[in-house]
Amino acid sequence: MNKIKIFDTTLRDGEQSPGVNLNFQEKMEIARQLEKYGVDIIEAGFPAASKGDFQSVREIANTIKGCSVTGLARAVKSDIDTAWEALKGSEEPRLHVFIATSPIHMAYKFNKKPEEIVEIAVEMVKYASKFFPVIQWSAEDASRSELPFLAHITEEVIKAGANVVNLPDTVGYTTPKEYGAMFSYLKENVPNIHKVDLSTHCHDDLGMAVANSLAAVENGATQIEGAINGIGERAGNAAIEEVAVALHTRKDFYQSYTNITLSETKRTSDLVSKLTGMAIPANKAVVGRNAFAHESGIHQDGFLKNRSTYEIISPELVGVQQKEVVLGKHSGRHAFRTHLMDLGFTLQDNQIDSLFEKFKDLADKKKDVTDDDLFSLVLQKTVNSDELYKLDSLQVQYGSHNIPTATITLTKNDGESVQEAATGSGSVEAIYNTLNRCIDSELKLLDYRLQSINGGPDALAEVFVKIEGNGVEASGRGLAYDVLESSAKAYLNAINRMIAIQEYRKETKQEVM
Ligand SMILES: [Zn+2]
Repeated sequence: MNKIKIFDTTLRDGEQSPGVNLNFQEKMEIARQLEKYGVDIIEAGFPAASKGDFQSVREIANTIKGCSVTGLARAVKSDIDTAWEALKGSEEPRLHVFIATSPIHMAYKFNKKPEEIVEIAVEMVKYASKFFPVIQWSAEDASRSELPFLAHITEEVIKAGANVVNLPDTVGYTTPKEYGAMFSYLKENVPNIHKVDLSTHCHDDLGMAVANSLAAVENGATQIEGAINGIGERAGNAAIEEVAVALHTRKDFYQSYTNITLSETKRTSDLVSKLTGMAIPANKAVVGRNAFAHESGIHQDGFLKNRSTYEIISPELVGVQQKEVVLGKHSGRHAFRTHLMDLGFTLQDNQIDSLFEKFKDLADKKKDVTDDDLFSLVLQKTVNSDELYKLDSLQVQYGSHNIPTATITLTKNDGESVQEAATGSGSVEAIYNTLNRCIDSELKLLDYRLQSINGGPDALAEVFVKIEGNGVEASGRGLAYDVLESSAKAYLNAINRMIAIQEYRKETKQEVM
């Protein structure tokens, strides 16, 4: 059996998904969960892209010790220097440096001859090896590169000190057969190839990212890159959870294994979906709501007689549980605390105290407080701790023959309070017009989504919004028992994040790989 390393780029390529912007606490929460999920390498960001990226890569590198943390760099000294500053505190500092190798990229992006590209790649790997014990080198657009050239540059970067060679299908163009053949070509034509791990990085433009990654494994790849739920540039990356479950379920075929703790799959997927605001389609493999539902009579009949007639993955394998009641209004602080620990949260005493109050409020309104409710509650609390504005009070007047009117009081973190009122054609619009007035800004609402946690008449309401103002897009989430309150909280959360982005966005993120 071959060990396949899992390289997770949810926080770098995944975070480049259009409309996704994670704040620092959210990235840290995801990194902690990825560590628990058992990925081998976390790509925490692109340190040279912005001050915010640098800070979060550095904090994640300093905090996460159960797996390797890496950051992306272009093949330029300043990017490598910045990456070193961000990563030097990690358990095993690892650089991910890339340069494009396809004729179209070399000619149009760099205006350089192939031999000049080889020189730059070699020089930068040598330069990086002065600091970094582990260097991953990527040939951007490898799948559209000429194979003899790809073999040549690969041999040279290995000589220069690269430990991992990654061959991305940057534009999601290749097919499983072609992509596999590229790996076997390098295996046969690069004399020093046995010294490195060979890695995949596949995009899903033609819906083949996972199939391509697995075809590479059949041909000698020992590392797969991807993102949770398959998020990423354009159509996204190979979905890590699909790769891991496929390698497990078909180990008879692939003769491989990973370090992934499959029972953490659902939790990891839910966390990334909630924090990025990218919903999981009901029919998505492994983690979709319908992935374990059997609808047709013939299937149900077979399934009841023997599960394996129609079920190749059990829900328990990936941590999908039936809805269960966990706590209610008579549950005490001790049970609450123990349960949060069982759910995998590590919290300070003061955080537990304030969460316990929120839990009691909720348990007064809602008979059964489920794991999902607690998960959402804790997440809301832990990732939104340093907001500029907090919702103090909200009042909405609505009647079928009245003009909806909202009155809102906000408290700023310096103690100042702001109160405004405004109307709208509906209650939510009235709330959003009022909030715009509170911060004296005309914001545009780009997206609004409402969902209930677990369903049922007393379910918690979760709202996701995306807003735009002064050229900055930000998303926000709100959780409350009432849909209007959660709508207000989501919009205010987006406002707080927009202000934070404006404050430290030095330059726009570059589109890479
Ligand atoms: Zn990519």
